[in-house]
Amino acid sequence: MAINTPIDPMAELEELVNSEDTKNTTFAPFFFSIKDGQKALIRPLLNLNQYVRVEKHEICNPASKKFEVKAVCAASLHMQGCIHCAKAALAKSKDEKKLLPSTRIILPIFVHAVIDAKTGEYITYTKAHEDGSSEEIPISGVRLLEMKKSSSILADFIRSYNGNDDSDVKSSHDITTLDYVVRRDGAGTETRYVVTPKAPRALPTDVVAIPDWTHDRDLVLLQYADACPFEIADNDIADNDDLEWDASSKKAAKSVGKPKSIPDF
Ligand SMILES: [Zn+2]
Repeated sequence: MAINTPIDPMAELEELVNSEDTKNTTFAPFFFSIKDGQKALIRPLLNLNQYVRVEKHEICNPASKKFEVKAVCAASLHMQGCIHCAKAALAKSKDEKKLLPSTRIILPIFVHAVIDAKTGEYITYTKAHEDGSSEEIPISGVRLLEMKKSSSILADFIRSYNGNDDSDVKSSHDITTLDYVVRRDGAGTETRYVVTPKAPRALPTDVVAIPDWTHDRDLVLLQYADACPFEIADNDIADNDDLEWDASSKKAAKSVGKPKSIPDF
């Protein structure tokens, strides 16, 4: 195979979405997330053919509902020595094999607002001021939308990109030209998302509201990797007889950076 084979990103994306191992996975909101009964008006900031693809190691403890592992696979960033891949290679049980990396598609988005679908009220967050006072501010701002291959949101974006959705509002192969309402109903395995294209609202024009990195897929990847830091082994862990599978173990691992705190909207 020639190294310089031109890649059609959309064909590759559709092939990925339609590939076999998309079962048993659900959309897992990470930076962007809304709750059951909420809907958000969002604008993609990169077009779909500029999507950022990463491999991610993720283990969620069902009891605590906390992530024990949430890391970009170092191999995804063209680095060797991913500690999680090494551990996954030693995995025997079904639970341990959950440490194997899986694909995520990342798009930076601007969230215009999040609304309670029933009452129509804006969802707010509490902002604390230095003088001790606080105020309720409607949720709005840049977020990373993280989608698994099986995400219905991703499938809806692909339809909108291709123009074969049922909406009268067409994207003309550029989803950054439209807003989308993303509505969530249900929770857990019953969660459903409905994506509806809308005529675009004006975006903020200042770089504070929408930073330049949101328009550059390499920088989007860096932001993502900053939030889910990869971990690589200090030495060749294949030669390390002491290594045992333990998702929470940091043995032989070098954490690169700390998980960035997720900003308030
Ligand atoms: Zn890995």
